[in-house]
Amino acid sequence: MRTETARRDDLPSNDAASNDAAPEARAGTRNVLIVGVGGQGVIMVSKVMARISQLHGFDVKQSEVHGMAKRGGVVFSHVRYGETVWSPTIPKGKADVLVALEWAEGLRWLNFLNKESGTFIADTQHIVPPFACLDRKRGARSGYLIEPPEVVLDQVADGYALDATALATELGDRRISNTILLGALSSVLDFEPEIWRQVIAEMVPPKTVELNLKAFETGRDWALRVHENPELLRQELRHLPLPPVVAEPDDFELRITEEWCKGCDICVKMCPERCLSLNALTVAELTRPERCTGCRICEWLCPDFAIEVVKLPAGAAAR
Ligand code: SF4
Ligand code: SF4
Repeated sequence: MRTETARRDDLPSNDAASNDAAPEARAGTRNVLIVGVGGQGVIMVSKVMARISQLHGFDVKQSEVHGMAKRGGVVFSHVRYGETVWSPTIPKGKADVLVALEWAEGLRWLNFLNKESGTFIADTQHIVPPFACLDRKRGARSGYLIEPPEVVLDQVADGYALDATALATELGDRRISNTILLGALSSVLDFEPEIWRQVIAEMVPPKTVELNLKAFETGRDWALRVHENPELLRQELRHLPLPPVVAEPDDFELRITEEWCKGCDICVKMCPERCLSLNALTVAELTRPERCTGCRICEWLCPDFAIEVVKLPAGAAAR
């Protein structure tokens, strides 16, 4: 676990934000818990959150755990800000906001959310961990949590479930779903949108600034629309895909985005059926398609989102 602390004395005097902002936090410590799995950008969300709090002159404590992060392992980060923050970790039941970049991780951490007043913001994306998929035969069920969003949202004081990954994919890069969630988060915290844009632009790679700002606006607009009309959320939930707990026979296709593959070899080594190899350009390739069961292990473990097992309409598989 890594812990960072920043106090208002550390701040440059010409910071854009003023200490008058975010008045609700002046009264006490605010707690934001961000959870997900490796490769999703939990730490980036946490750093943006911590930096914004810092720019507003708050005492900020941030702690994070990212063991096995690059292999789909659990990653979480606590961000606490206020006049004076004593501990870097959020006690159970005290998170004001729980941001989940992966659905089941959100459910696992629900007991940290303040039951009376907490806000739950979650991507409905499902990343099934390998240990939930011990039976990898075609058609086998996994042990992944299957509570649907509407059931979960009924248990929290304020809840938002959005298909951030689908929205990010529409913008051209599903890896920016974390910035879409930052947009949604910005709508429930009392910081000005301009400071979010400024900090995001500082923190993401320069060539992705425009795309990330677009993602931020997409998430923020979505959340503001839902604030105004909660019925919209209910309507959207009805159309969300169910957790991919079953690999149906012959209705999937394995897609590899070659430009994203950096040839790390993880998928090749971890595929239980040994159907992947690296080609002459050190890019992953499906060399034994007839053995692939669609178990998704390669998809979940690829740190670069370069492999996807895509569900096809019944009978459409080309294998
Ligand atoms: S290629 Fe991927 S989906 Fe197919 S069997 Fe191997 S790990 Fe599973
Ligand atoms: S597809 Fe992903 S896991 Fe496989 S070699 Fe490329 S980057 Fe590594």
